Amino acid sequence: MEKYNCHFIKIDVTNTCNLSCPLCPNSYRRNKESIPVKNMSLKDFCDFINEMKTPPRSIGFGVNNEPLLNKDIFSMINFVNKKNITTTLFSNFTLSNNYSAETIINSGIKYICIGLDGIDQQSYSKYRIGGNFDTVINSIKQIQEYKKLHNSEFPKIKIIFIVFKHNENLIEKAKKLFADMETPVFFRRTDLYAGFEDWFPVKFEQKNSNEDRIPVQHNKTDAICTEPFFSVTIDAFGNVYPCCGDGAFDFSVGNIFKESFDNIWNCEKMYNIRNVLQKKGNATNIPCINCPIYKQDNTNIALKL
Ligand code: SF4
Repeated sequence: MEKYNCHFIKIDVTNTCNLSCPLCPNSYRRNKESIPVKNMSLKDFCDFINEMKTPPRSIGFGVNNEPLLNKDIFSMINFVNKKNITTTLFSNFTLSNNYSAETIINSGIKYICIGLDGIDQQSYSKYRIGGNFDTVINSIKQIQEYKKLHNSEFPKIKIIFIVFKHNENLIEKAKKLFADMETPVFFRRTDLYAGFEDWFPVKFEQKNSNEDRIPVQHNKTDAICTEPFFSVTIDAFGNVYPCCGDGAFDFSVGNIFKESFDNIWNCEKMYNIRNVLQKKGNATNIPCINCPIYKQDNTNIALKL
């Protein structure tokens, strides 16, 4: 059996979000069921990292939930930063005013990807329901100012602007707004979810490009999807999934608080998925069969990361 290293862990350190974005499957689930809030403790997180035989090169905080809701988020980032693990925060950043620019920068966070798709409160809150545009903008400005003052390269901030029907006419204005803030912005479509066609832009075409990708080390494979060869996703309860695709969340391959990460990474379920993606295994009981990437049978995983 071929051995692979896990280079990248995507982790949710909370199971909730403060916004109610209409196309977010989690937002839909939360509205339907009342789910008790779970925040991963700092101790559990640090124990997990300490117990790993080979820590990953990179950790991304925030998969389907808002990482800034866990008050220990920057202590966690600081802890792994001291182990030379590159960290990325995926956030709506609307709670950034709970933390000072100094706390954020001194945590050692390397990349911050912010979902922000508007140029003012009106255009922004049509999709980011519950969010305050000025809070996000002011925090970005404060961090950029603080970086300049201390001659600091990091964190690098990127804006991911999801283009919808209601905001596609604002793209040029958004480019100007974020250029003035010296913050790169990337425009993306989100056509993964059937049933939301009314939201989709009419004219905007997404260029296929990797320029907004966070640098992450991959393992070499000719598989149709490379995710489970270099990465896993972990939820706030410690359950591990082969990727962050929606269907994968019904398919836990283990729990980091019950067994060693190495056993989970090398377990039979993970190997079966890897085999199937290399067209050698048994394609029953794996999440991939309903995944658009698997169905398209190509190597473009840009939509998933
Ligand atoms: S094919 Fe889809 S479901 Fe399977 S591992 Fe890749 S992203 Fe996840």
